Amino acid sequence: MITIKSNREIELLRIAGNIVHETRMYLIPFIKEGITTKELDTLAEDFIRSKGATPSFKGLNGFPATICASINEEVVHGIPDDRHLKNGDIISIDIGACYKGYHGDSAWTFAVGDVSPKKEELMLHTKESLFEGLKQVKPGNRIGDVSHAIEEHAKKYNLGVVRELVGHGVGTSVHEEPDVPNYGKEHTGPILKEGMCLAIEPMLTLGRRDICILDNDWTIVTEDNSPAAHYEHTIVVTKDGYEILTGGIDG
Ligand code: MG
Ligand code: MG
Repeated sequence: MITIKSNREIELLRIAGNIVHETRMYLIPFIKEGITTKELDTLAEDFIRSKGATPSFKGLNGFPATICASINEEVVHGIPDDRHLKNGDIISIDIGACYKGYHGDSAWTFAVGDVSPKKEELMLHTKESLFEGLKQVKPGNRIGDVSHAIEEHAKKYNLGVVRELVGHGVGTSVHEEPDVPNYGKEHTGPILKEGMCLAIEPMLTLGRRDICILDNDWTIVTEDNSPAAHYEHTIVVTKDGYEILTGGIDG
């Protein structure tokens, strides 16, 4: 069932989303060559708890950490560990926070030092595809309109669109109905209505779209080892468009 949120619920979702955004902003100065993803995870968890919230992902289906930290060919669900970030890496950091029972969910991809022009382009066009999808969010449009806009933008730049993982509704659970795929046909799927809360999250690759899962049973990587980028915002559908709950165009 796709739920329509009340004004009171939207206010709590706004607070949760803002905590996610603030956590990302807090982490940015630390995302540098030499730091480990485990250190970033500890910083994020302490920050989220200092705001009176809890990490949404920790313990979710057994996930062991606060953030997902996915480096280079890792698409999503990278588990923070003792690896040090290196110059030239790209890292996507996915953050979830729960405030008074309501969640925010947002991911962003960052360059560590100087990255190749190809990786720069991948990041730029993946971010653009998120906002191309968002342009389609308004009451009366359908999920397929969002999906199609993301896919078309990715195709324009010959990027692979990961299909097995999708965006989703957000509320008292971090993953609710409906699914929001990053590919699809216009004028198909559920109709968007004011008060729906959605996480929209394109995951694009510099190579083929095929993925596989590592032996840790969590981390998704590209099968051809090409780099991947991931951008995600939680939004609420408004009377004539949408409101981003987890930041803005720059993160
Ligand atoms: Mg996420
Ligand atoms: Mg999500």
